[in-house]
Amino acid sequence: MPRPRQLFVTTALPYANGNFHIGHIMEYIQADIWVRFQRMHGSQVHFVCADDAHGAPIMIAAQKAGKTPQQFVADIAAGRKPYLDGFLISFDNWHSTDAPENHHLAQDIYRCLKKEGLIKTRVIAQFFDPEKNMFLPDRFIKGECPKCGSKDQYGDNCENCGAVYSPTELKNPYSALSGATPVLRDSEHHFFALSDPRCVEFLDAWTSEYGHLQSEVYNKIKEWLNPNDSGHRELGDWDISRDAPYFGIEIPDAPGKYFYVWLDAPIGYLASLQNRFAKLAGDARQGEADFKAFLADPATEQYHFIGKDIITFHTLFWPALLHFSGRKTPNAVFVHGFLTVNAEKMSKSRGTGLDPLKYLSLGMNPEWLRYYLATKLTPRNEDIEFNPEDFMTRVNADLVGKYINIASRAAGFISKRFAGKLGAISPDGSGLLDTLRESQEPIAQMYEAREFSKALRETMLLADKVNVYVDANKPWELAKKPGMEERLHDVCTVCIEAFRLLTIYLKPVLPALALKVEAFLNSPPLTFALADAALPAGHTIGDYKHLVSRVDAGQLEALFAAADPVEHAGSATKNISIAATGVARTPANEALAPTIGIDDFAKIDLRIAKIVQCEAVSGSNKLLRLTLDVGETDDAGQSRLRNVFSGIASAYQPEQLVGQLTVMVANLAPRKMKFGISEGMVLAASHADEAKHPGIYILNPWPGATPGMRIH
Ligand SMILES: [Zn+2]
Repeated sequence: MPRPRQLFVTTALPYANGNFHIGHIMEYIQADIWVRFQRMHGSQVHFVCADDAHGAPIMIAAQKAGKTPQQFVADIAAGRKPYLDGFLISFDNWHSTDAPENHHLAQDIYRCLKKEGLIKTRVIAQFFDPEKNMFLPDRFIKGECPKCGSKDQYGDNCENCGAVYSPTELKNPYSALSGATPVLRDSEHHFFALSDPRCVEFLDAWTSEYGHLQSEVYNKIKEWLNPNDSGHRELGDWDISRDAPYFGIEIPDAPGKYFYVWLDAPIGYLASLQNRFAKLAGDARQGEADFKAFLADPATEQYHFIGKDIITFHTLFWPALLHFSGRKTPNAVFVHGFLTVNAEKMSKSRGTGLDPLKYLSLGMNPEWLRYYLATKLTPRNEDIEFNPEDFMTRVNADLVGKYINIASRAAGFISKRFAGKLGAISPDGSGLLDTLRESQEPIAQMYEAREFSKALRETMLLADKVNVYVDANKPWELAKKPGMEERLHDVCTVCIEAFRLLTIYLKPVLPALALKVEAFLNSPPLTFALADAALPAGHTIGDYKHLVSRVDAGQLEALFAAADPVEHAGSATKNISIAATGVARTPANEALAPTIGIDDFAKIDLRIAKIVQCEAVSGSNKLLRLTLDVGETDDAGQSRLRNVFSGIASAYQPEQLVGQLTVMVANLAPRKMKFGISEGMVLAASHADEAKHPGIYILNPWPGATPGMRIH
């Protein structure tokens, strides 16, 4: 057996100053499909990401919010999970660029570059805010555009005429932080000497090597690397330092100087990987050794998925940082375009757009979006568009109409007429299935090459062929004709096997659906290799259960509807921000958990419980031991009580609780704890930011409720 491929895959680190938008989700879905395909193909993958935590914008936003930057970033990080779980993104690790691993790695890389003679210092004049006592980042300097004279333009470019300039060129500049007129002040900055001939030579070679970059990306990069007609190169030395106050990583030998956030951001890929290895080893030191060995192994492949706005950082600065610090360079950087949503209808004033959490909260299936985006995604750096009508057609007509229907038309006969057992397959069916199997390798290659739209087009063409077979054989008519039992069994068996093959081809895109299909078919986890081995005659499949519903036009309307007009009260900026996110604020911005259906809710049995007894737990200052009556009796009619441990000792004295009614989860699996077995859980409310808003509050029903009543 050949050794499995070992892959290190990342997506761009999101800046930790806000929640995810649909652009993040698209990138994660693209990378996740590729990663899931690799795993299905037997590769060992480490798929990691992290919050990009540093920089002036976060420092300033944290100040405004009255938080430390660390707390600010932690609060943002706490809101990531509902998006990632909600859209089935299978990261193996999520970390932060402010983690200790990243501090060490960034400082180490800097020391290596310095040893190579590639760090230079130079004094530059920069705008300084005399009131705030700090150097101002470009985005915090405003003034009149030097070209067109528009007021209130940023320090780096004009939103009116598109001119690009340096902040010192603005007319009548002012600090966006204090309104003060900034003054020019000298400061010594550290530079990574990218103009050094060694760097230029390395980058010429690295960027032009086949496979590292998409051709359209390479063509863009050449503009930077190659000298222009007058012999000048765009690529100059890179300013990697910022002055205190700054939220970032200190430069080891330069007090008061910090690494510019863009230096340590990509190093966060490595920090997250190291953290992953530490978790796998259960030990930081062993993890670090494993991490180093993994990256030193020539067989390790390293891939980065990024958007087109951060090409220079990832295709020039990043490989050079890695190479000249003696590290492994990426095998490829995969650049994607932007997602435009509902282009002609999108408008800031109406506040439309595609909000990922709103999508989930409307009960829309995450796999619809995964499927739809996959039908659009190519390996090229090009924009794709989300169009609601197209979305509905692809999901309803293709995914449900062509693929799901194959199973729903055949499964009922197998279970009702043949006790769930598959039959033998006759030659015409075998021919069809062989055609489907022959596509296994081509489709696998399309996934490998990130040709997702082609892979799905091919799969849907195969589904068309299966549907032609179904229509030609009409199982629903065979079922009514006497003496056609065997043919009916044959045809339905072909349909089920065809459905299994199509599911293999769709699994990287539709992982949750594939899981349901595996359960329905009584199949081990589907892999590409399993395409060759059909389920044998006599194999029993389960009952067919509804797999995916169709998109409802009303859901799409709701998704793009502007927020309630009542919410538009207030300042203009506020009203855009509410409408654009479309999600109600919760304390400490703790995001709502993904939407569940009523069926999911019904699984939780909540009951009114009477606290019959309550006592402190010796050896624990957090727990109280509760004896609860939820109206249960044993065979002899004796009342059966529950023992429950609850972490509410900080909020209640035992005697306050005895005799009270409250709410408990009555069907939670019993849990063995240090102090005994807990047979359920009492519900209590607390603030997401417990440090700032301490307090735990148990629930109390209105008068009239009695022990054992169910809460619906
Ligand atoms: Zn302008």
